[in-house]
Amino acid sequence: MRPYPPEPFRIKTVESIRQISREERESLLKAAGYNIFGLRSEDIYIDLLTDSGTGAMSDRQWAALMQADEAYAGARSYYKLAEAIGNIFGHKFFVPTHQGRAAEHILSTLLIKPGNAIPSNTHFDTTEANIRARDGKPVNLAIDEAADPTNHHPFKGNLDAEKLEVFIQEVGVEKIPLGMITITNNAIGGQPVSLENMRQVSEIYRYHGIPFFIDACRYAENAYFIKQRESGYENKTILEIAQECFALSDGATMSGKKDAMVNIGGFLTMNNEDLHQQACNELVLREGFPTYGGLAGRDLEAMAVGLWEGLDEAYLSYRVGQVGYLAQGLLEAGIPIVEPPGGHAVYIDAQRFLPHIQRDEFPGQALSVELYVEGGIRGVELGSVSFAYTDPETGEKHYPLMELVRLAIPRRMYTQAHMDFVIETLARIAERRESIRGYRIAYAPRLLRHFTAKFEPL
Ligand SMILES: *Cc1c(COP(=O)(O)O)cnc(C)c1O
Repeated sequence: MRPYPPEPFRIKTVESIRQISREERESLLKAAGYNIFGLRSEDIYIDLLTDSGTGAMSDRQWAALMQADEAYAGARSYYKLAEAIGNIFGHKFFVPTHQGRAAEHILSTLLIKPGNAIPSNTHFDTTEANIRARDGKPVNLAIDEAADPTNHHPFKGNLDAEKLEVFIQEVGVEKIPLGMITITNNAIGGQPVSLENMRQVSEIYRYHGIPFFIDACRYAENAYFIKQRESGYENKTILEIAQECFALSDGATMSGKKDAMVNIGGFLTMNNEDLHQQACNELVLREGFPTYGGLAGRDLEAMAVGLWEGLDEAYLSYRVGQVGYLAQGLLEAGIPIVEPPGGHAVYIDAQRFLPHIQRDEFPGQALSVELYVEGGIRGVELGSVSFAYTDPETGEKHYPLMELVRLAIPRRMYTQAHMDFVIETLARIAERRESIRGYRIAYAPRLLRHFTAKFEPL
């Protein structure tokens, strides 16, 4: 029997969900151009599209909403959030933003010039797009193990320090206005980064005088993996580990919709006072006054409470355990996944699941369609639809490391029976996998095409 971690909470409010018929699902998908982003959430039974802002807030967070201060400037809720961020992240300054990509936008606007290159382990799609929008080049330098979905490296999210040194020598420091690392590494399977690796990367960036920013969306899950897997950290608290990570950096971009346990919100932190001043100017232009940054006081309040809840070890143990339970069930049903499972999602290896579909015919897209048709489940393609691109200079086509479908688990939302239903649905799809066909793109915008593209079945 697979171990399922008993939830460290009980349920106070419920939200009904329903399963519509297979025929209805088929016709709705067709109308949405076979893009699961185009479906209505009402028509989905189990929504694993993302864990971003989709989780359940706690009774304490809901209570905090009522205590929020909605003052335009200097609200009490801002100072409560500042205290939490100061404690956990430790950077000298921060600005609240409406979500993570707004923080990325501000950082990219202030630091990136055309022709610059920004290294990371793997940039997430919004970070990539924000860098490209400034005519910069996002460069992914993950360790080689990251490309092998069966390799059980404990820190598969690591950035390859040797590749980073070579990259800096080749490109030249003057063309690298900042360096990043994403924790956990979402785009390649929600894989953790070790503190040892962050220390190495930080030393390299600092040696070359390159500002080091952490994409911190799932820093608490990352810290939990460090506690579990990295020697010397067994007896540290999650907070202490997180503080040690951030002390290595010069700033961070954060989506509160992840490990700050809220439905909307984010922030940008930094140590550089000039940069903070400029960020405030950008903020006033686009997001709002620097003490609310595009959020209501209640959003700041919920994020301040959520940041602490996200660091609770009992919660993190349940969270990572629930993801592990789903992963184990899929493996037992013969479904190929990225192993070991990451912290927030299980990533199905669509290329191994549907080996007869070419990368240009989008195996991940095909599988995400089948998941909805078979069980009303929504997952998301993270493969060639999301990440393949043609280099504007060379005309060369670039593919991502893997063709994945991500089943992201919203925080504190679904039960063991829901996970079992997902496993059974995928087992049924596996029985008829040879008959599944690929897709062609009928329409796509220039950036972030997976959100709005339309497809036709082949
Ligand atoms: C979600 C996410 C972002 C962007 O955050 P939003 O709040 O969705 O704008 C950036 N990086 C990573 C790793 C993410 O998971």
